[in-house]
Amino acid sequence: MTEVAAPAAPDGPLPERLARAIALAGPIPVSQFMAAANAHYYATRDPLGAAGDFVTAPEISQMFGELVGLWCADLWDRAGRPDAAWVELGPGRGTLAADALRAMARAGFRPPVHFVETSPVLRAAQAGAVPAASWHDAVGTLPTDRALLIVANEFFDALPIRQLVRRQEGWHERLVGCQDTLFLPIAGKPVPDAVIPDSLRDAPPGAILEVSPAAVGVTRDLAARIAAQGGALLAIDYGHGGPALGDTLQAVRGHGFANPFDRPGDQDLSAHVDFGTLAAAAQAAGTVAWGPIAQRDLLGGLCIDQRTASLARRHPDRADALLADRGRLMDAMGTLFRALAITAPGWPTPAAFGE
Ligand code: SAH
Repeated sequence: MTEVAAPAAPDGPLPERLARAIALAGPIPVSQFMAAANAHYYATRDPLGAAGDFVTAPEISQMFGELVGLWCADLWDRAGRPDAAWVELGPGRGTLAADALRAMARAGFRPPVHFVETSPVLRAAQAGAVPAASWHDAVGTLPTDRALLIVANEFFDALPIRQLVRRQEGWHERLVGCQDTLFLPIAGKPVPDAVIPDSLRDAPPGAILEVSPAAVGVTRDLAARIAAQGGALLAIDYGHGGPALGDTLQAVRGHGFANPFDRPGDQDLSAHVDFGTLAAAAQAAGTVAWGPIAQRDLLGGLCIDQRTASLARRHPDRADALLADRGRLMDAMGTLFRALAITAPGWPTPAAFGE
């Protein structure tokens, strides 16, 4: 566990450091490029909101965090109210946490709060929203003596992916090379066929398969903890019930899409989350996996319509805005985003994931 820390002084601008590393040692895997770019990106700014690069569901409406909090409190209650900590992975500005904690407290659930966050800038924002939280660089230092109720919104999509490209003769790792100051993807060494799922192995030339050892590793570690200690994980993100083919690596800057190989460290890189593979990893580690279901089914199942109506009754001047926010969460984002839940063996069916 670490305190809120000052940003480390980087050794020159990131594009120059990456170009130098590539010139010295050759092209690097997409995963290494993405890891370096996002670490720098998140460490040096608050990317959220109108003045930033993108807006997330908890920043659109307080209802999102409140409903996620109620999901946690309800599950904890039906599990028999065990000793538990509440954990958020990549909490951004701490908005979801503040909204969730308020809703959970009303339901009688007041757990200690643990944040897994690497960005010093965002840790400072989170400390403003939830002063009593404890911070972790990674999931390994989370408490071991109690159940863990873990939430992650738009966290897994920021973790590095490897891209594997099908060429005529077989599959290759996609690398990032550098010409002058231009970064560009190139095909690298062949990868063994065994790495590719059977059903996708014979894809046509040009096909791309994305895999995220980082996301699978975090899921496996958390699932092992949940299996041993009790608890659950709710992960919400762009994603699919894969594995599936497709190039989903994308860059967002100033609320628009950009070339992901441009300006490393200066734009947000993300990729769709392969929830099917994460669910399989969670099951292999001894937990029960639920979904993925569409975000609209999650929020609908948690009664977002009743929450919208009750807030509108209390704040009639904001009724139109509340309805518009509800629409943003349920319509476009509602089908693009999905939710995966994992629970400890013997824990009840999580709300919105049952029949
Ligand atoms: N959950 C927030 C923020 C999403 S942005 C929201 O919905 O608004 C992604 C978040 O994950 C940021 O807080 C970022 O700093 C954090 N993050 C990205 N990569 C990380 C990593 N490898 N370890 C820990 N946190 C990470």
